[in-house]
Amino acid sequence: MRVGVPKEITPGERRVALIPEAVGKLTGFEIVVQRGAGEAAGFRDGDYEQAGATIVDDAYAGVEAVVKVQKPSAGEIGKLRQGELLIAFLQPLTDPETIGMLAARGVVAFAMESIPRTTRAQPMDALSSQATVGGYKAALYAADRLPRFFPMLMTAAGTVAPAKVLVLGAGVAGLQAIATARRLGAIVAGFDVRPAVREQVQSLGATFLDLGVAGEETEGGYARELTPEEQTRQQEALEQRIPDYDAVITTAAVPGRPAPTLIPASAVAKMKPGSVIVDLAAESGGNCELTRPGEEIVASGVTIVGLTNLPSTMPYHASQLYARNVSALLGHLAPGGELALDWEDEITAGACVTHAAGVTA
Ligand code: NAD
Repeated sequence: MRVGVPKEITPGERRVALIPEAVGKLTGFEIVVQRGAGEAAGFRDGDYEQAGATIVDDAYAGVEAVVKVQKPSAGEIGKLRQGELLIAFLQPLTDPETIGMLAARGVVAFAMESIPRTTRAQPMDALSSQATVGGYKAALYAADRLPRFFPMLMTAAGTVAPAKVLVLGAGVAGLQAIATARRLGAIVAGFDVRPAVREQVQSLGATFLDLGVAGEETEGGYARELTPEEQTRQQEALEQRIPDYDAVITTAAVPGRPAPTLIPASAVAKMKPGSVIVDLAAESGGNCELTRPGEEIVASGVTIVGLTNLPSTMPYHASQLYARNVSALLGHLAPGGELALDWEDEITAGACVTHAAGVTA
């Protein structure tokens, strides 16, 4: 199978779908990489060539599959052919227009977001690999923006108290943010509506903050959306507790839904001046009422970081992990480079969002 790796064209995107390490391991595949595709992530054309790839000007020409990070633009979709494979983050739950265009062209599209969260599919789980990067970076932003130390210090000038950090939403990104803030020496508390997470938070050396609201876990291991009454109770409970913290990292999400508002403006007003909120849910609207997606603002003396696409700010390792996820999926769909789509298989059927006959999810 001949696979094309185009250069990402979404503004600010520095990742690349395959890196030289992955190219070298994809036995049975012929990989063509667009000139400069890996440059922003630190991978040179020569590194790809050494790994066995061919550098081309157009990675869409003459290939049977295209692998990307971001969903394709209308122009890129126009270069895909009937029956061609596409693997990328396609936002199937929130961008029906792109899915419709792919279906109309008869593209066999696999969305990284739709890979089942099962043990067997773990090597392909790009939501997790990229959330790991996002959570790590969120803790670093919090430490950087805070006008205080994270760790406790005993100096000749006296003792410095450690920062108190609260992480809301303890999925993959939240747990990584907790672990990173702990490593930097902060005192950390975590909260999630899924009660099962309590032990995981505690095992990282953080305390579990009890806000008196808990939701069940849905089949895929995700949280269900809280009812409006539960949301109000959560906001009120948080408003009481939030002034205790110097930095709050929020990661709460429900797939396909706008991010729940956990921190109303009234709670921000109660935080100490100089406090920081890093809102990892900014892309889907934000967990803080005042978050402006893509921006960093100061409101009531509190810095609110709403920067989006954090994985792209650490493109080397984000691409390395993503490339391993993509390689695992390619190997699953085409073992040894021979296409063998098994529609009875839960990973193949689950991740496929359009095929030659139309939309599947
Ligand atoms: P996510 O990004 O969809 O959500 C992040 C977190 O926000 C979740 O933990 C969710 O419970 C929480 N949340 C939702 N609403 C909230 C609210 N109102 N207040 C506070 N928290 C709220 O989730 P994710 O990080 O992608 O992971 C979801 C689940 O999938 C986790 O249980 C994770 O362990 C599981 N998972 C399983 C596998 C596997 O078995 N292979 C792999 C990865 C993740």
